[in-house]
Amino acid sequence: MQTLTILGATGSIGKNTLDVVKRHTDKYQVYALTANSDYQTLLSQAKDFNAQHIVLADVSVKDDALALAASMKVTVKCHFGADALVYVSRHAEVDTVMAAIVGAAGLLPTFAAVEAGKRVLLANKEALVMSGEIFMSKAKQCGATILPIDSEHNAIFQCLPQRFEYGDLSASGISKILLTGSGGPFLETDLELFSDITPAQACAHPNWDMGQKISIDSATMMNKGLEFIEACWLFGLQNDDIEIVLHPQSTIHSMVQYTDGSVIAQMGLPDMRTPIAHALAYPARIQSGVSPLDFSQLRDFTFSTPCHKRYPNLYLALRAARMGQSACTVLNAANEVNVAAFLAGDISFNDIARFNAQVLDTHQLVKLTTIEEVIQCDNAAREIAQSAISESLC
Ligand code: NAD
Ligand code: MG
Repeated sequence: MQTLTILGATGSIGKNTLDVVKRHTDKYQVYALTANSDYQTLLSQAKDFNAQHIVLADVSVKDDALALAASMKVTVKCHFGADALVYVSRHAEVDTVMAAIVGAAGLLPTFAAVEAGKRVLLANKEALVMSGEIFMSKAKQCGATILPIDSEHNAIFQCLPQRFEYGDLSASGISKILLTGSGGPFLETDLELFSDITPAQACAHPNWDMGQKISIDSATMMNKGLEFIEACWLFGLQNDDIEIVLHPQSTIHSMVQYTDGSVIAQMGLPDMRTPIAHALAYPARIQSGVSPLDFSQLRDFTFSTPCHKRYPNLYLALRAARMGQSACTVLNAANEVNVAAFLAGDISFNDIARFNAQVLDTHQLVKLTTIEEVIQCDNAAREIAQSAISESLC
């Protein structure tokens, strides 16, 4: 039996994880489930999966959550506040932590799981973008196993050779990592119309059903930029080792090109239960609930290169990757603030890149050696991003 904590259980990845777990109750048991404030969903999940603990990060829902727990007669220990996320991540009874909180809020509990040497199923890419070197060296030092959940990174992981040398592609016979992306909902949209894009249009991804923040990041392709940085850290890659390829059908989830001319691709329907099941059971394979690909139905299978004008956020992220760690940390922070402002209707779709660029342009690189310094850097960048928005609204 593997004992699980699922950070971000009420989100898209969290729900997909529980969907896989419910098919294998002989293999996985839930220790703790967490959410920000959606106590109704969290309590009903706790009841269904017989969880021992739940954590709600937002303390303001405490009274309502406790009242509902009592009326539902759920025998689960309820905790409130961000510190409790760390408690259920590092607890000795836990084998595996699914890190599926969105954004920087996931950094501390995910890092706690790494420090405790857990098997960490990493969906929360922002944690790695913010703190790459600190995160990966802590994982090595503490014996944590990091298994990628992001579909592209999970695909790359599946396509790598068994004897992969971290940080040395040529020693592994690899010439390039091909990171694929669909291009999002605005791949064909006239650029003149970009200023009028609404949050609802940007959230309507053609292939994937995801949370709001990653849906906006997919529309701007900031998501691919964050994934580029994530791939560098996960597999020890240099910037030139990765090529970004547009593949609108999302059938191939990424590829590894070998020096002998072979290209190994991982394919499947765009359904996160596949990478989740892969990482949960690794190195074994289990049923995920995902249907097999039907090759008689596959029609188009196309590839192209993303263009600067359509996806300025992607190129900001690539610039941050070349600059260094603190540039990635501040860009990630600014992007979270600007995406939230776009979702709230305060800024336009084009403003996301404009305001992200302002923060990156003025950033002076600093050395980040501890998680506390990473958080300070993130907070400072958020303040700069927030004041740029406030000024624009005056
Ligand atoms: P989501 O918005 O659907 O869910 C986010 C979860 O985090 C929810 O449970 C929410 O309650 C919790 N949360 C939000 N703010 C919090 C806070 N301040 N403190 C504690 N918990 C908080 O997001 P998602 O789409 O499931 O994405 C989760 C992570 O996985 C992101 O980092 C995303 O980039 C990554 N990811 C998602 C997908 C996908 O298909 N959804 C694919 C690849 C990677
Ligand atoms: Mg992805």
